[in-house]
Amino acid sequence: MAIVTPIETPAGARRRLAISNPATLQPVGEIEVQNADDVNTALEAARKAQPAWAALSFDERARVIRRALAVVLERQDEFVEIVLSETGKTRSEALMMEIYATCDVMNHYAKNAAKILKTEKKRAHGLMGLMKQVRIAYRPLGVVGVISPWNGPLILAMNPTVQALMAGNAVVLKPSEVTPFSGQIPREIFQQAGLPDGLLQVLVGDGETGAALTAADVDKISFTGSVATGRKVAVACAERLIPCTLELGGKDAMIVCEDANLDNAAGGAVAGAFMNTGQYCCGTERVYAVDPVVDDFTEKVVERVAQLRQGAEGEFDVGAIFWPQQLAIIEEHMADAVEKGAKVLCGGRRNPNLDGLFYEPTVLTNVSHDMRIMTEETFGPVLPIMGVRDEEHAIQLANDSEYGLSGNVWTRDKQHGFEIAQRIITGSVCVNDMSVTYGVQEAPFGGRKNSGVGQVNGAVGLRSYCHAEPVIIDRFGGKQVATMYPHSLRRDEGMKKLMRMQWGTSLGRRLS
Ligand code: NDP
Repeated sequence: MAIVTPIETPAGARRRLAISNPATLQPVGEIEVQNADDVNTALEAARKAQPAWAALSFDERARVIRRALAVVLERQDEFVEIVLSETGKTRSEALMMEIYATCDVMNHYAKNAAKILKTEKKRAHGLMGLMKQVRIAYRPLGVVGVISPWNGPLILAMNPTVQALMAGNAVVLKPSEVTPFSGQIPREIFQQAGLPDGLLQVLVGDGETGAALTAADVDKISFTGSVATGRKVAVACAERLIPCTLELGGKDAMIVCEDANLDNAAGGAVAGAFMNTGQYCCGTERVYAVDPVVDDFTEKVVERVAQLRQGAEGEFDVGAIFWPQQLAIIEEHMADAVEKGAKVLCGGRRNPNLDGLFYEPTVLTNVSHDMRIMTEETFGPVLPIMGVRDEEHAIQLANDSEYGLSGNVWTRDKQHGFEIAQRIITGSVCVNDMSVTYGVQEAPFGGRKNSGVGQVNGAVGLRSYCHAEPVIIDRFGGKQVATMYPHSLRRDEGMKKLMRMQWGTSLGRRLS
């Protein structure tokens, strides 16, 4: 995330924001905050363009998405530079999280949307099946509002946008004020790919713009961001009685069992905690390792963390904190933990050798659930490790959270890992891996508890950009309903007999 500073503007003029690079503190550019009028203009154009797009075949829509994929491949270096300038993340992270993941999403939905969204023929049960044909058609909703956060500014804008477009919708996208230039890359991509005019509108601005979009005449909101804003979006959508998916924050737990491969688990913990400088919705935010292995595990983690290189230029492993507000939260959580007795094994301060917003990769022990660092989303390069009696204790603590986005379990016994996963109340779990679910396009991804509502990705996610419309066709041209009247006592007796036949015997129940 970048550093965002309001620019003084004359009374009555539009608000402007200056964006700076959080790693180098150099200016990146300025944006004008778009308001409710801009939202309405964008929506009008989107609504006008949508029916013709929806009338195209999946193949025709997929052709545009594939051309867009070619644009991403061709211009990836340019796009990476834009993301780096606003976020200060590492080049490898920009390439992996933003570019690779975006290409994967585009290819997946271009290839599979037709199969997932094709009209389904269903066999109705029992007698109904003799009389009716059932088809379920996946109809686009119309115009989808996509509101995206700053931590994955390209992928978290592109993934919902590509899915909504493949499903036949138009999209109005509002990226975060912290990464407005990365947020405009989707427009560049699709313009060059020849997406018909009006279908993808990008509005830059801040919370005012986002709020205006949720209050406008959209047909669905696909929101990714914090719990607090997600709640406001849910209220706005409830007012308008439109659906929303909310992909919100997390406090993912990692459980290390006694039989875990501790080298792999330590490597997984470090990747889980420090990827994207810890600003990753399903990053590992707390570890529960069983007592017999906690010391060895912690030692291995600290050894690895000591080798991480933090920086702003050249080759490095851990980048900047994307914006000052996040740095403030990290420092508050750390101060609270240390005051309550946490022991800092490494890091625990801003990096004194770098000028930008850098917090050193940090490992903590002696932590407890009285500390904010174990219960609130820290969203920074901080890894608290807690020793626990046994796996039961670990599961109990993992579930002691208002969040439930993802989580991970480390054990050599895959079936046992699966069984533990089933007992964690969370959106998804990895066994001997971390945070990979969002990248597995077949897997529905979404949070439980305060971590979200609904799911993105997979057939469930793609279909959430549609209304599943059942069309019931009478096999006999409407003869049966046409003879509904007159009602008679004789017919009622017939109905009673029919019910006894259908559900009063085991043969009847089996056939019904
Ligand atoms: P925010 O909730 O602050 O912002 C998200 C988006 O909402 C931004 O575009 C923001 O605009 C916009 N917004 C702000 N106010 C409103 C409003 N009243 N109505 C509508 N939109 C509004 O989240 P962050 O950008 O800080 O993102 C970090 C959070 O996102 C973390 O909690 C992280 O866990 C979560 N996240 C969840 C993911 C998931 O898949 N579950 C994935 C990635 C992140 P602006 O920034 O311009 O104010």
